[in-house]
Amino acid sequence: MAIVKELETPEGVRRKLEISSTQTLERIAEFEVATAEDVNHAVEVARKAQESWGALPIAQRTAVLQRALGALLEKQEEVMDLVVGETGKARQEALMMEIWAAADVMHFYAKNAARFLKPESLKLHGIMRFLKKAHVEYHPLGVVGVISPWNGPFILSVNPTVQALMAGNTVILKPSEVTPFSGRFVLDIFQAAGLPEGVLQVVLGDGETGAALTASSVDKISFTGSVATGRRVGVACAENLIPCSLELGGKDAMIVCADAELEFAAAGAVGGSCLNSGHYCCGTERVYVVDSIADEFIERVVENTKALRQGKEGEYDVGSVFWDKQMSIIESHMQDALDKGAKVLAGGRRNPNLEGLYYEPTVIVDCTHDMDIIAEETFGPIVAIIRVKDEQEAIRMANDTRFGLGGNVWTKDSRRGARLAAQLKTGSGCVNDMTMTFGVPEAPFGGRKESGVSQVNGKKGLQNYCHAMPIIVDRLGGRQAPKMYPYTKESFEGMQKTLNFLWGTRIGRWLA
Ligand code: NDP
Repeated sequence: MAIVKELETPEGVRRKLEISSTQTLERIAEFEVATAEDVNHAVEVARKAQESWGALPIAQRTAVLQRALGALLEKQEEVMDLVVGETGKARQEALMMEIWAAADVMHFYAKNAARFLKPESLKLHGIMRFLKKAHVEYHPLGVVGVISPWNGPFILSVNPTVQALMAGNTVILKPSEVTPFSGRFVLDIFQAAGLPEGVLQVVLGDGETGAALTASSVDKISFTGSVATGRRVGVACAENLIPCSLELGGKDAMIVCADAELEFAAAGAVGGSCLNSGHYCCGTERVYVVDSIADEFIERVVENTKALRQGKEGEYDVGSVFWDKQMSIIESHMQDALDKGAKVLAGGRRNPNLEGLYYEPTVIVDCTHDMDIIAEETFGPIVAIIRVKDEQEAIRMANDTRFGLGGNVWTKDSRRGARLAAQLKTGSGCVNDMTMTFGVPEAPFGGRKESGVSQVNGKKGLQNYCHAMPIIVDRLGGRQAPKMYPYTKESFEGMQKTLNFLWGTRIGRWLA
């Protein structure tokens, strides 16, 4: 149901959107667009609920999360039906990317949140350590607005919501208009787990609702979506002086080294490009293959791509395009590439055998950096290949982009692979793997350049949903305070002498 149409409504009544299936083109549902008033009311409710939720011992918040995980496992078929219905993705992708990944992060934070958010004592330096002691406490920020996209409608709503809740915040979630009910299901599993009223609320709507949330009095926005919208969200948060995490689009490069295991690399190129119908923020959007092995690599990629089954019933590997507007982008990038000299070796068109929005898994070669298919995020099931002289040229070209989300290197020498991956100007890198950057909950995740601001996931990501508050305690019970005034010539000279001793002599520096 990812064809969205605005319905006519009388003035003064909430706007209504209708969504239709990308698999069958049939109407599925309609929903009302939450207004700024609705959003502001939700923030008030959330602020009240936060007082008691934030005050609960973390063990009690964890218990709710564990029950929510149980509810997810019980309702997994229902979630998959909903996600497949809304997106048209392959059922196994719904199981793997939405349910499995959600179960993994829910269990991960249930197991680790208490440890990650425990007060930490600070080891102070120099003579300060004799005078003061300090620790850092992690306090909830208050109300967090979570705005999620349509490509991973359940997991990308669950993951930030779980982290914000575990940190003691209340959450208002705004899923994409393209996949509203998959996002809203997060509320169902938490309600089944007995989450107190008002701790998690979902506002359905479109960009208008998202903008209202960013303009409201929430204390943080956790946004996942495109660069263009992310920029608007960042500006709105700057206006309100609130923090935001912006997890934005990518253009991940795959580098196939001369010594790569070609069977694995070819499978990785196809999987990385076609997974989730190509709508994966860390999907492989560009493949740089070293010339000496390019022919054999391309041959294998074409063979693997042609073997993919596309469909909507029974067993299939690649589903539909999730959104009608994305289909237009894919087609326009492909046309631009062909006009500029690229060659299609597989696919390259809408699937003529399926009604609905189906783009055939595609292999395209002779791509260049002036093509949209290499410069912009295409987000389609397309393996776009460029031959390079060697690995260094591949790294240079991989970094020649305004995006910086992830990238991957394929080689039999994994140490060298890690050194090459570290040269990518991206948020994260992989060696001999193409999908896992988001899937390792321990690893902080976030883009560089236009691919994002701040990081989610892991200890650092969870702490980003808190204010890290240092408490500094005087070891002498405040005895020094009465000696502060008056400032005199002697006190000035005494201080200056100590300064010059501490940082101007070898023994002083050792002490300091
Ligand atoms: P969009 O930026 O179009 O939308 C993202 C969310 O923002 C949606 O809920 C959308 O609502 C909402 N929104 C739209 N306008 C505004 C506004 N002015 N203020 C606040 N919120 C607004 O992204 P897509 O949904 O198209 O998602 C695909 C993009 O997300 C791709 O670029 C992909 O790479 C990126 N992405 C990044 C990830 C990462 O972790 N880095 C992970 C997954 C995807 P509505 O849809 O209802 O208009």
